Amino acid sequence: MSVDVEDWFQVGAFEKTIARAQWDGLERRVERNCDAILGLFADTGIKATFFTLGWVAQRHPAMMRRIAQQGHEIASHGWDHARVFTLGREAFALDIARTRGVLEDATGCAVTGYRAPSFSIDARTPWAHEVLAEHGYAYSSSVAPIAHDHYGWREAPRFAFRPVSGAGLVEVPVTTAELAGRRMAAGGGGFFRLLPYGVSRWAIRQVNHREGRPAAFYFHPWEIDPAQPRRKDAPLRSRLRHYTNLSVMAGKLRRLLGDFAWGRMDEVVAREAARLG
Ligand SMILES: [Zn+2]
Repeated sequence: MSVDVEDWFQVGAFEKTIARAQWDGLERRVERNCDAILGLFADTGIKATFFTLGWVAQRHPAMMRRIAQQGHEIASHGWDHARVFTLGREAFALDIARTRGVLEDATGCAVTGYRAPSFSIDARTPWAHEVLAEHGYAYSSSVAPIAHDHYGWREAPRFAFRPVSGAGLVEVPVTTAELAGRRMAAGGGGFFRLLPYGVSRWAIRQVNHREGRPAAFYFHPWEIDPAQPRRKDAPLRSRLRHYTNLSVMAGKLRRLLGDFAWGRMDEVVAREAARLG
C-alpha cells in the first residue's frame, strides 16, 4: 500500500494551468490530508509507504516525522513532480539526491525506495533505473505496464523484475489485471476512484489468488479532500478526472484496507527479491 504525497496543485492534470512558480502562493492542504490518512491506517492497523515530494517534505518536516514515527516507510517521489522523461540523466541524478537529502534530514530514516512522478520511467528512459541502482536504491515502483493517455510502458513486465543486470535494484510495477487477454489498470488512480469498488476488489483478488502475487496500490492525499479549491481554468477532462468521487474515496479506501492484507513496499520488495533470487 502506498501514498504519493503531493498537494492538489502538483498533479499532472493542472500542469499547464498552474506553474511551479505559483505553488508557494497556494493553499497547502497536504498536511491535514496526510493526518487523515494516518488515522485511516491506524484504525485499520496498516503500515504503508509514503512516496513524498522533496518540495513537500522541505515545507512539512514535522509531518514527515509523524509519518515515520507511526511505523510507515518514507520513500522518494522526486523533487517537484517533474516527469523523468523530461529530465536528462544528470538532472535526474540531482533531483533524486536532493530529495533524499531532505527526506532523510527530516526523519532520520534511510530512503531506499523511489516512485517516478506519473509513473514516468518507460521506454524513453533506459538510464533511469541505472541511476537509481548507482545511488543505492533497493527498489523502484515507477512503471505502469499499460497503455494510458498520460503514461505507460506497455511492454514492461507486470510483476517485480530486476531492470539493471548485475544490480540488486527491484522494480515493482503498479498493479494491472488481465481481462480477456487485455491489461487493465488495477492499482489505484482514476480506476479506483471512478469505478465501483467491486471492480477493484475483483481485480486485486485475481492478482492475489489466481496469479499468487502481491498488488501494488497507490492513492493521493488530495483524493480524500472534497473541500480542496476548485480550478475552473483547467481542461474539462482534467477537472472530471481530478474532482469526481472525492467524497466517496475515504469510504472506499476503508473497505479496501479491510478486505486485503497490506504492508510497506520495502517489506513486499524483500519478499519479491527473495523470489527473484
Ligand atoms: Zn505523483
